[in-house]
Amino acid sequence: MIVRSRSEPAPDLAERLDRLARLRSVVADNEERFRQAITADFGHRSAVETTIAEIMLVFSEIRHATKHLKTWMTPQRVATALQFLPARNRLMPQPLGVVGIIAPWNYALQLTLAPAIGAIAAGNRVIIKPSELVPHFAALLKEAVGEKFDAAEVLVTGVEDEIATGFASLPFDHLMFTGSARVGRLVAEAAGRNLTPVTLELGGKSPAIIDASADLDEAAERIAYGKLLNAGQTCIAPDYVLVPERSLQAFAEKVRAQMRRMFGTDPSNEDYTSIVSDRHYARLEGLVADAAQRGAKILQPAKPDDPNWKAHRKFPPTLILGATEAMAVMQEEIFGPVLPVLGTRDAAEAIAFVNARDRPLALYWFGKERSARDEVLARTVSGGVTINDCLFHFTQINQPMGGVGASGSGVYHGEWGFRTFSKLKPVFYRSKFNRLADLYPPYGGKIARLEKLMRLMS
Ligand code: NAD
Repeated sequence: MIVRSRSEPAPDLAERLDRLARLRSVVADNEERFRQAITADFGHRSAVETTIAEIMLVFSEIRHATKHLKTWMTPQRVATALQFLPARNRLMPQPLGVVGIIAPWNYALQLTLAPAIGAIAAGNRVIIKPSELVPHFAALLKEAVGEKFDAAEVLVTGVEDEIATGFASLPFDHLMFTGSARVGRLVAEAAGRNLTPVTLELGGKSPAIIDASADLDEAAERIAYGKLLNAGQTCIAPDYVLVPERSLQAFAEKVRAQMRRMFGTDPSNEDYTSIVSDRHYARLEGLVADAAQRGAKILQPAKPDDPNWKAHRKFPPTLILGATEAMAVMQEEIFGPVLPVLGTRDAAEAIAFVNARDRPLALYWFGKERSARDEVLARTVSGGVTINDCLFHFTQINQPMGGVGASGSGVYHGEWGFRTFSKLKPVFYRSKFNRLADLYPPYGGKIARLEKLMRLMS
């Protein structure tokens, strides 16, 4: 694949559009099979969530790229400094070559294919390594992609293949990793040995800040949804909530009521997604038990070891009041339907709380008072922000998706993905009418005149 990417470096617009169309048919021809495969991997995955948060997002990325690709591929004009006129500058996007994609399990379809769309649009060849936690999905993706693509165009590895094990050590032209910060470090290290550039889409603890000016009912509904979509197994889910001390109890009750209204209290509810593995279920049980043991108040419709819930690996939506920094639930990314709600004295304390931790992937702010909102926007740094809701900045196709610091580096989605997977090559077209040669030796007096001109202009 690497050799082919060098001998046939730049597929034209028609070829790229054809690849995008074929990628669309990979999903469109197998929609129901993908829903079934993902639900088999999770134990249960809400069919609506697979459709809305995975399949539709992939279709929308493909539609957008197809519509704009011609413009994206056109070399851009760049201004030329006066002393070089009438020369021209162009910024020419070129494929990097072979892009490797390592994906997590939580939105297995979207997080393998959305990066692939950017990479294919940019003219690259792509090798995808899905997560071993979603073997049914991975096998189906491999089969469906294999039917529509030559292996030298797009290849999906088996989760147990030899190539999957040493994937990050392959000499890719770019490596895109979505997953945990722990594995992200290993991947960056392995890629570094080849000087392979990496995009790291990581996770972390994304805060939701409730301002004193917020409508608590509205905030409670939106946070309940943001937290329970995919049973909290969402990289940009609100991890914990900071709420003015005096509203804490009332707010927690409102979130609890909203969670009950949306997903009920019956674990066989089709809309409520299972936890992906026994290990993750046990991890969440451990987080809640640790918080309880250290004195937090736990609000749950059932205990996680209730066989009705555990048999389906459905984790009861859980609120934690009185969480402290000593508790594991406030130290690691929760990645499940468990929501600590913490009281803060004022807005400054909420900002300080966020800034004392790793830079989050997402931040949510609820309220009406603009100055308080702008203060949080100005004083915190995060991958992205949604004001008065959760998650939706992610769905804005014209906005870049990506973390900062411990939540990742690099961006994709829409044109941002096209650019990430392109070499933007500056090209300078010298003009025969320009007197650049006057700079060459012997310098003599002419150089003094040029220097004077340059000083005037700088
Ligand atoms: P993970 O880090 O355990 O695994 C991610 C991928 O890396 C999997 O395909 C896995 O097989 C692979 N992997 C594991 N060890 C590897 C190694 N040594 N070298 C190369 N690859 C290796 O993450 P996960 O549990 O699948 O996903 C959950 C994490 O992903 C959470 O932290 C979540 O926040 C994050 N996430 C981030 C985004 C984002 O867009 N920023 C999206 C979804 C999930």
